Amino acid sequence: MNAGKLLWVTVIFIFAAVIHDACAQGSSRLIIVDNGIANAAIYAPADIMADQTSGPSVRDLAAYLEKMSGAKIEIRTPDRMPQEFGGKIPILIGEFAAQLFGPIKKKSEYKQGWRYVVSQKGVGLYGESPEATSYAIYELLDRLGCRWYMPGEPGEVIPKVNTINLSYADISDVPRVIYRAIWYADNDFKRRNRLGGPYLSAGHALEMYLTYDAIGKQLLQQHPEWYAEINGKRAPSNRVCWANNDVAQAIADAVIRYFDTYKNAISASLSPDDGIVFCECAGCKALDAGDWFDVMNCNSMSDRFVHFANEIVDRVAKKYPDKLFGFYAYAQYTKAPVREKLRPNLVPVIAPILYCRAHSMTSDCPSRKELRKVVDGWAKAARMFGLYEYEYNLAEVSAPNPHITKQIEELSVYYSYPNFRFWQPETMANFESALPGLYLGIRMSWYNRADPNAILDEMYRNFYGPARDAMKKYWTVLDEAQTKSDEHAGCGFGYLRRFPPETLGAARKAIDDAL
Ligand SMILES: [Zn+2]
Ligand SMILES: [Zn+2]
Repeated sequence: MNAGKLLWVTVIFIFAAVIHDACAQGSSRLIIVDNGIANAAIYAPADIMADQTSGPSVRDLAAYLEKMSGAKIEIRTPDRMPQEFGGKIPILIGEFAAQLFGPIKKKSEYKQGWRYVVSQKGVGLYGESPEATSYAIYELLDRLGCRWYMPGEPGEVIPKVNTINLSYADISDVPRVIYRAIWYADNDFKRRNRLGGPYLSAGHALEMYLTYDAIGKQLLQQHPEWYAEINGKRAPSNRVCWANNDVAQAIADAVIRYFDTYKNAISASLSPDDGIVFCECAGCKALDAGDWFDVMNCNSMSDRFVHFANEIVDRVAKKYPDKLFGFYAYAQYTKAPVREKLRPNLVPVIAPILYCRAHSMTSDCPSRKELRKVVDGWAKAARMFGLYEYEYNLAEVSAPNPHITKQIEELSVYYSYPNFRFWQPETMANFESALPGLYLGIRMSWYNRADPNAILDEMYRNFYGPARDAMKKYWTVLDEAQTKSDEHAGCGFGYLRRFPPETLGAARKAIDDAL
């Protein structure tokens, strides 16, 4: 045997011995905390610590491992990857992890790919960007059972253990939902639940490119004919004429100025301003496709809107071919167009303000069933689409509204479309009145294929502890108050039907049992 071959055999033997030792100790695991003693240290580069997403994530990692076990895990921030780790198992973050474990395996156009590695060499938590690195960090805490059900300390559930084992794993992934967002919650809560991603702008904005932009404003003053014709007159209003390509050009120029200023923005919104009055000129009416829209008792305006939006996108795309253009499918332009084809970078975000909010689109509710067709229409018309659901009873926000059934049934519909890529509902600071459905939406925006009932059962068990059965009963009674009554009002008018004395009595009893 020559010397080279001997060395090779020796290396194999040592490697096998290490594996054998690990197996002999019980399993393929790293013991990062052993009976309250830290076996590991975190190594993070300075740029990771300085970033406003990954920095707090690394500090969270140390803080929650300590909260779980009592062991203080040190965060070390050397200038470069250390040659040795002082006898500790290294938990390597960002570039340090890439140096030991190799590059990220899955990548995305928005730098959202992340990798989680646990092997005999240590732990690697990293991503294509600081935000993606943060995803890997919370993957570790999630696997250990850490949960954040609502903002603030009362919302967190952190297991208590003496010893923390991590099973060997090598997971690379990219979030399927590109942007995941709710309205009112602090950044810690959002980051810990891996909400975020590149922002899809879809708010009411279209006319504001002219009315808020200095150059646009001036042009609008010079061209009163750009205003919408309403009641036979073109007068200053919040509407412009969508049949006029000079208006499309002026808006496109303003959007280009926006992207020139905000170079990192991935999108601009083309959603019209809120409201239901639009241009009544012959040119705009001629752009409608004659597709009657029962809900608004008029022709759908989606074809005229998509025509106008396409005109803008084509002009902006000459300079910015990769930017996205979000818009709400809303008001008279709720339905998918029947004639116009969307440019691939136009992203409809379904905002079902016109439909019943109590029932799901897979139920027999006559209003909500219509939404099922709307969703299917946009899913087929667009390269990607999103959802701007109202995660509360829009016109009456005080009564408990857990929207459990609606979320379970409808999220499975949305996630059945591979091009469903944006989840950005309108929410209140209403965790106390909407917790189950709200949490389910948050959780499934990350774990799209998870069993929603399993998510809820885990929440009841973790969050309510001994009161879990009673609280499940409480939320179920209130959910059925919405789903099982033949009442479709989006406000408080139907509450005598939704909340009869026996329902309120059952809810009261469940709370008493929980207490
Ligand atoms: Zn017009
Ligand atoms: Zn209904």
